[in-house]
Amino acid sequence: MRTYRARILSFENPSSPAEYRYMSVDDEGRIVGLSRGKPAITGELVDYSEYLILPGFIDAHIHLPQLHKRAMVSDSLLEWLERYIFPAEMEFSDADFARKVAREFFSTLIRNGTTTAVVYSSPHRGATEVAFEEAMKSGMRTVIGQVLMDMNGPEELLTTPERAASDIRAVASRWHGFDGRLFYAVTPRFAVSCSMELMRTASEVADRMGLYVQTHLSEQMGEIEEVRKLFPWAKSYTDVYHEAGLLGERTVVGHAIHLSDRERAILARTGTKVAHCPSSNFFLHSGVMDLRAHERLGLTVALGSDVGAGPFLSMLEVLRDAYYANAMSPAKAFHLLTMGGARALGMEDRIGSLEVGKEADFVVINPEPLAEAGEDVEVLLSRLMILGDERNVAATYVRGRELWAQHQNERKG
Ligand SMILES: [Zn+2]
Repeated sequence: MRTYRARILSFENPSSPAEYRYMSVDDEGRIVGLSRGKPAITGELVDYSEYLILPGFIDAHIHLPQLHKRAMVSDSLLEWLERYIFPAEMEFSDADFARKVAREFFSTLIRNGTTTAVVYSSPHRGATEVAFEEAMKSGMRTVIGQVLMDMNGPEELLTTPERAASDIRAVASRWHGFDGRLFYAVTPRFAVSCSMELMRTASEVADRMGLYVQTHLSEQMGEIEEVRKLFPWAKSYTDVYHEAGLLGERTVVGHAIHLSDRERAILARTGTKVAHCPSSNFFLHSGVMDLRAHERLGLTVALGSDVGAGPFLSMLEVLRDAYYANAMSPAKAFHLLTMGGARALGMEDRIGSLEVGKEADFVVINPEPLAEAGEDVEVLLSRLMILGDERNVAATYVRGRELWAQHQNERKG
């Protein structure tokens, strides 16, 4: 057993964080004690007195092959995809290249305090297998899916419904549920690049194998117009996915910006979750997601970086944009980042907060030079939310295991 001494904050309550001084973690990586006073039995004592410990950050929407295509200014989402993203994803037909980027991708996420990421791979089965292998080695928790498209894209990136089904089955049967840490998400890119047949096939395989589903919904007006032309019978963009059987408890849709209340009600009724990606939405001028409207209808909202349209891997920087998009208290923002992410994945009984019985996924934060650990909690979290970035991350733990620490690097260097 190990006991950590720090200013420990957890955000299961969106209006006021729970606070402790000691957290004990057993050898299986489970939290077995939280207290304000020193516990009688501590095991090894790890002293982070000048630091904060927060629940691990959950990035609910990120694209691995777009790591090096951030900050490519463009006129619209569809132009950005054609000009920068499709060519970038084509390079992932080379498995060695895919492995090099995947390795860098997961280690960078960990350095940023992200303990769980929901990842879009490229449209290649090989690159997706490589992504799972590297995720396994990294120690992170991840949900990964091979991007599916069968129209409106370059030939090299297109699949067929039959090939998509066999790719999903092959990769998911090996990796879905691996070590209780890795999971598969069926990943049609978005309705613009998927036929109804492909989406239906994908949702059937997801249902049969109990997989997650992820896709993009209502990000930009031009995209919505395109969906209207492609699926003229549908009452709305959301209706296209509903008809395809893609919506449900295990589905996370990215963006969900330009929605009617009728569409929000369909998402809520089916239990579909939303990954809100404010940095990406500002970057591509997609619009501002209305958090209150979503919550009024009972939708679960998580936060995503959406790298590469989002420029920041640091979820602290995404928090700042979440605050600019929808005014909220720092405690609420950290709640969305941690509990929101866990709920979106149906993992709230295991991760998302620091509570006895949960798995110990946490981030050690050095609040300096923005604030001191002893600062009033509201001020402390406010500074981190608006000014924080990867420089404030001192160490990252998943299931009680230290995956990375600043001091370790200094020693090595
Ligand atoms: Zn995306």
